[in-house]
Amino acid sequence: MSRRIVVCGGGSAGGVLAARLSEDPSNFVTLIEAGPDYRPPEETAPEVLDADQIGFTTHDWGYSSTDEVVAADGSPTFGIVEQGVVPVLRGKVIGGSSSVNGANALRPTPEDLARWTALGNDRWSWDQVLPYLKKLEDDPVGGELHGTGGPVHIQRFTEGEGLRPVMSAFLDACAQAGHPIHQDMNGSQRLGAGPLPLNRADGVRQSSAIAYLAPARDRDNLTVIGGQTVDRVEFAEDGTTARAVLLADGTRLEADLVVLCAGSIGSPSILMRSGIGPRKVLDELDIPVVQALEGVGKNLRDHPMVYLTYEVDADAVGELTPPLQTVLTFSAGGPEGAGDVDLHAVVLTMEPGRLLVPLVIYRPYSLGGMEIVSRDPEAAPRIRLGLFDHPDDLRRMVAGIRHMRTIMESAPLQKYIKAEIWPGPDVTTDADVVRAIREGKNTCCHAVGTCAMGGEGTATAVVDQTGKVHGVEGLYVVDASIMPDIPAVPTNTTTMMLAERCADELRSDT
Ligand SMILES: Cc1cc2nc3c(=O)[nH]c(=O)nc-3n(C[C@H](O)[C@H](O)[C@H](O)COP(=O)(O)OP(=O)(O)OC[C@H]3O[C@@H](n4cnc5c(N)ncnc54)[C@H](O)[C@@H]3O)c2cc1C
Repeated sequence: MSRRIVVCGGGSAGGVLAARLSEDPSNFVTLIEAGPDYRPPEETAPEVLDADQIGFTTHDWGYSSTDEVVAADGSPTFGIVEQGVVPVLRGKVIGGSSSVNGANALRPTPEDLARWTALGNDRWSWDQVLPYLKKLEDDPVGGELHGTGGPVHIQRFTEGEGLRPVMSAFLDACAQAGHPIHQDMNGSQRLGAGPLPLNRADGVRQSSAIAYLAPARDRDNLTVIGGQTVDRVEFAEDGTTARAVLLADGTRLEADLVVLCAGSIGSPSILMRSGIGPRKVLDELDIPVVQALEGVGKNLRDHPMVYLTYEVDADAVGELTPPLQTVLTFSAGGPEGAGDVDLHAVVLTMEPGRLLVPLVIYRPYSLGGMEIVSRDPEAAPRIRLGLFDHPDDLRRMVAGIRHMRTIMESAPLQKYIKAEIWPGPDVTTDADVVRAIREGKNTCCHAVGTCAMGGEGTATAVVDQTGKVHGVEGLYVVDASIMPDIPAVPTNTTTMMLAERCADELRSDT
């Protein structure tokens, strides 16, 4: 039986979903994306294709968080549009955030999935998701843990294979500080340093648009519509079965199945505009309640970050690209103690004479949330990331900054580093470092959890383990918003894995 499927949002998950679902000729898939759809893919804006460009805002929703920041002189501004305001960057383009991101392709760990199952999602164990992690990748490492021949090509820069001297020196400095060096940071050992797995090929960022949609473009049963914003979902007379998607310009698309893939800000916004969300929010905006689900927009987790910033000898550093090649993950005693992967640092060379070290809390306790403030689909929602709200996130970041200082000041990096710019050499006491973190805090742009997976009736649960929205029929959410907890890695590969898995289930849905 043929089905009309409308996929709302063409990002990391939406690109995977549309491509996989349209492999079945009985599915007629329409993908709606608010940002531009570049067709043919080679005509994509250069910064979107170029994996070396990170932190640009030419294809962004322009959201910001209400987190209080007291930006002081010298606080890092990379990725920040307005000093003193924490941006919530979200790609607005075919491929979504996978088209604008850093192409860091770290995969989730077995411990990440164990936390999902502990939250009542027993179908998301490591053993059940590993086949999908392998299916999506083309990783030359191969072996039992890796897939070869999948859509997303993985590249590592190693000694003799493009690893830049300054990056190699960073790995030496990590080794000298006692960290094990692993050639495969997506392997079984995750604490340590090594070449960063990156989803790039020939310098091109392997977004879902490039890796998944481009090869599917010729299918008669796949229609991609760019530049159209989804307003809301319309329900049949029974009041609970999704039957159409309404676009902001008034267009109505009939559907047998609606899948929201608009991301951790977009999907809960569409749900709320459709009458699914916290009763208080819906009542305040006079939106008729289809299904009261208190978890919509709650449970927002992100990875809090600061940018340690150094003045470097530009001649010694040489070429600035590729700007990102290596990673260190270590522990400051996170929720599960000393073995927890809870801090993550990379070195970034984005401008001559400067080196940035984004240092990230990967097991945050801090919690945020979002809600719409208008029925207008073009209006920005109110977002609070809650970065460093929890004192233990601050404690671990203070420890992390101290540890990174010893690495950055050690002998292997001496010929490159001239001075610490941020937090700055005068910032030495714990109180000073905490103040600096509050002034310079930022986000890794990894928001998840706002339509969390979990059993019906669970406090924050919005969807079941297949992505189906509780209490209604024919409506699914499949994207980063359904992660019940944030993985201790950047979130793109986990999102694509999740989309691969849900696509498998939806293909056989009748
Ligand atoms: C600047 C940046 C850097 C990052 N770096 C990394 C990294 O290096 N590695 C990593 O693993 N992760 C990274 N991430 C995070 C990762 O990219 C995201 O977690 C992931 O892309 C989320 O996928 P998604 O499908 O949930 O949402 P998205 O990929 O954001 O897709 C949502 C899509 O829906 C569209 N949309 C939203 N609302 C509507 C609407 N109403 N109507 C129509 N379309 C709509 C959006 O335009 C977008 O295309 C980064 C993110 C950003 C923003």
